[in-house]
Amino acid sequence: MVDFTLTDEQKDLRELAHSFADKEMRKVAWEYDVDGTWPQDVIDKAFEVGLMNTHIPEAYGGPGLDYLSGCIIEEEIGWGCSGIGTSLMANGLASAPVTLGGSEETKKKYLGMLTESAKLASFGLTEPDAGSDVSGMKTRAVKQGDKYILNGSKCFITNGTYADWFTVFAKTDPDSGHRGISAFVVDANAAGVTVDKKEDKMGQRASNTATISFNDVEVPAENLLAEENKGFKLAMMTLDRTRPGVAAMATGIARAAFEFSVEYSKERVQFGVPIAMHQAIQFMIADMSTKVDASRLLTWNSAVLLDQGKRASLISSEAKRFAADSAMEVTTDAVQVYGGYGFIKEYPVEKLMRDAKIMQLYEGTSQIQRLVIAKEVLLPRAVDDLPGADEMAAKASEQSQSDQAAATV
Ligand SMILES: Cc1cc2nc3c(=O)[nH]c(=O)nc-3n(C[C@H](O)[C@H](O)[C@H](O)COP(=O)(O)OP(=O)(O)OC[C@H]3O[C@@H](n4cnc5c(N)ncnc54)[C@H](O)[C@@H]3O)c2cc1C
Repeated sequence: MVDFTLTDEQKDLRELAHSFADKEMRKVAWEYDVDGTWPQDVIDKAFEVGLMNTHIPEAYGGPGLDYLSGCIIEEEIGWGCSGIGTSLMANGLASAPVTLGGSEETKKKYLGMLTESAKLASFGLTEPDAGSDVSGMKTRAVKQGDKYILNGSKCFITNGTYADWFTVFAKTDPDSGHRGISAFVVDANAAGVTVDKKEDKMGQRASNTATISFNDVEVPAENLLAEENKGFKLAMMTLDRTRPGVAAMATGIARAAFEFSVEYSKERVQFGVPIAMHQAIQFMIADMSTKVDASRLLTWNSAVLLDQGKRASLISSEAKRFAADSAMEVTTDAVQVYGGYGFIKEYPVEKLMRDAKIMQLYEGTSQIQRLVIAKEVLLPRAVDDLPGADEMAAKASEQSQSDQAAATV
């Protein structure tokens, strides 16, 4: 049984996030989208009111919120502006491997950095030749005494230009595919770290996406997360926990498009009646409403399973896949409801359609989610409970994922 009754605290969080999205994000969202303006002012305000770093445990200065609360916040943030939202929420992706696999000292230092002031961290997995198939990554970390020497390049890194530290995945055993990957925390100001390129994007233009290069970067050995060659497992455990958040953000985008469409369909008159009177429009609105609600249900289901300590790979991927594809469909239909005006930048829905596209791409494309779902359905794993950080290293040695589905994000 899953109980979706929100606590008073969760209702307050939703109210806080909604009000923030309405007053602080929407007022600049369309303007920042035009030039891809970096939303530092919004980030500072979100940090002040407690809408960032929501999953960092209290021991390291965070609020240690549950996954359902995180998803409630992310839907509102996505409703406000998913471009700014992606930059607000990327600390969650970067910090999850640290929470799961970092030593006490590493957690204090790097998680503490994020909770003391409005600092940012990035998650560095993707490379030019290794996207869905991360086993093809070329970044190398070679141990030399009490440090690792890091060389390579990561692309499409959210907040890369502004991050104070990165979680970087690199090969420590290049002949072992995804079993030869390790994860490290790397300081952005370490010698040899450079930001090479800021991407000019179709949507989510206020978020920062950059290429980061590592040239003979010295990483202290204590910055290794978990154990050597357990980085892939750590990345998969991270994505199981962050995909519900992406699904929530996609739900927020779809909800925004749905609400704009309902409003517009009642105002726009054609053939002597509001277009909402035409059944073709009503059916689009009906499908939008259904997709928004179904996306939220799958998202909350995945979050609640994580909160119950259950392994949630299947439902996290189902939520992310469904909510992302639904956001694309709903925003496309929203443009249709607006007719020609939907295609014009002066109206709100074309931005939502552009923003929605990335939901089907990052943190695993919709095709990759289907691979994970099919694998979980056809070859279900026996272990039901989610291993904690301490258990992870032990369990990681029993590599239980098949190569095809496992080697993809
Ligand atoms: C704006 C933005 C922000 C991002 N942020 C980050 C970040 O912060 N950190 C990070 O590490 N990465 C980030 N990424 C990278 C993102 O996760 C990858 O782009 C994504 O995983 C896909 O990889 P790729 O682009 O190399 O596409 P490819 O892997 O080259 O895929 C191309 C196409 O082939 C399909 N495909 C590939 N393999 C299969 C298969 N086995 N079966 C069926 N279809 C397949 C894909 O679904 C896709 O349609 C970001 C990307 C963008 C655009």
